[in-house]
Amino acid sequence: MPDTLCRVCGGELDVEKQCFHCNQPLQLFCTKCTNPTEVRFHSQCMYSEEILCHTVASLA
Ligand SMILES: [Zn+2]
Ligand SMILES: [Zn+2]
Repeated sequence: MPDTLCRVCGGELDVEKQCFHCNQPLQLFCTKCTNPTEVRFHSQCMYSEEILCHTVASLA
């Protein structure tokens, strides 16, 4: 089953959260029933995001 349709109602999905690094969606939500899909973290991107968070924290 393609991951481009809502598993609940079959509605179209829109991007809820986007990855800072590769601009691919991390989480989608249904435009009909607003049911969110599973968050799919990109392990590589999350790793660099963690470094970024630490950097920002140390600058603050
Ligand atoms: Zn739906
Ligand atoms: Zn990513």
